[in-house]
Amino acid sequence: MRIGILGGGQLARMMVSAGLELGLDFVVLDPSTDACAGRCATLVNADWAAASDQPELLSCDRITCDFENVPASVLERLSSSLSVRPGPRAFEAAQDRLVEKTLFRDLGIPVPDFVAVSSRPDLLGAVEQLGFPSVLKTRRLGYDGKGQAVLRSHEDLELAWQTLGDHPLILEAWVPFQHEFALTAVRSAGGETCFYPPSFTVHEQGILRLAWAPADMEPALVSAAKAHVGRLMEHLDYVGCLTLELFAGDFGLLANEFAPRVHNSAHWTIEGSETSQFENHLRAVCDLPLGSTRPRGKSLMLNWIGAMPPAKLLLSVDGLGWHDYGKAERPGRKVGHATLVADSRETLLQRIEKLRPLLDAQTASLLSGDITPLG
Ligand code: AMP
Repeated sequence: MRIGILGGGQLARMMVSAGLELGLDFVVLDPSTDACAGRCATLVNADWAAASDQPELLSCDRITCDFENVPASVLERLSSSLSVRPGPRAFEAAQDRLVEKTLFRDLGIPVPDFVAVSSRPDLLGAVEQLGFPSVLKTRRLGYDGKGQAVLRSHEDLELAWQTLGDHPLILEAWVPFQHEFALTAVRSAGGETCFYPPSFTVHEQGILRLAWAPADMEPALVSAAKAHVGRLMEHLDYVGCLTLELFAGDFGLLANEFAPRVHNSAHWTIEGSETSQFENHLRAVCDLPLGSTRPRGKSLMLNWIGAMPPAKLLLSVDGLGWHDYGKAERPGRKVGHATLVADSRETLLQRIEKLRPLLDAQTASLLSGDITPLG
């Protein structure tokens, strides 16, 4: 079977890596000539709008995405002649924070209070309603903390409006969360749904830095989160992997956003689960039986942001899975990740002690914090 992937970043690259073992062939479409998945699959260099004119893509048996901002209209056009999984509806919902949060609310998935903002008076009204602190976000095209500003007082409004005011916006109440976590599930075309254990996630400046899995969480919270994801997938008639990002605290659970694709918070599943999210996504897309999502011990995933650390040093640590995306180094860019796996919490903690002195100070400091979330 031939799979066309829209978007040629690291998610496509890891999908290709998993899919080659399933005997699949891949074509990757990306507007950038140096898309990192182009090193391991045929790369078609074209804009999204030209996707439906590319013979290499039209010859594919299935289309899927590594990027949630592929215009839904492009997916709609492709789906008139091809099997696009997940389908355009999921992308329409995920691409606009207002549509997404309204859908969550309609499905009974709790969300932080939010107000749509399209003018300066709207912003003043929204701030009046939600108070400080609050978070102003662009409705579209924001990722990794881009396109958002935290408002702590009236003084922050001017700069936030100057920076973001050209776009349709949403103001969200600030959530005083204790933990952030993410729940990934995979659903087949027939509606069979399998859940990975939840991951605790740690972000800095909006960028995911690390994930622990399986997260040690109250079973009632996990059941509630599973019910939310299940309802969302059913509503969207979803096929493939989907991740819901949530806040947890005294208030219970609040949903932040979902990704209609494989997700960074579940990269640990490559080494830390019986079937990785990448393989399971492709299994669902290709109508193959879903694989077990059972964890293999305890995992810690660390993102490499901006630059790769020295492989020569870090690969000396037992149980470390190494992923260099082959991307040019640039501040704030995800260029790779590593997953440390062990069969028990104790062994994982010992391995972390070996790893910590080999890390840069900033990453090491993330590992000095609270690790009670790890089950
Ligand atoms: P997002 O782009 O919405 O995924 O936001 C990136 C990160 O910013 C989240 O993972 C949180 O750490 C933080 N964040 C976003 N929205 C809120 C909020 N309403 N309250 C508190 N923190 C937030």
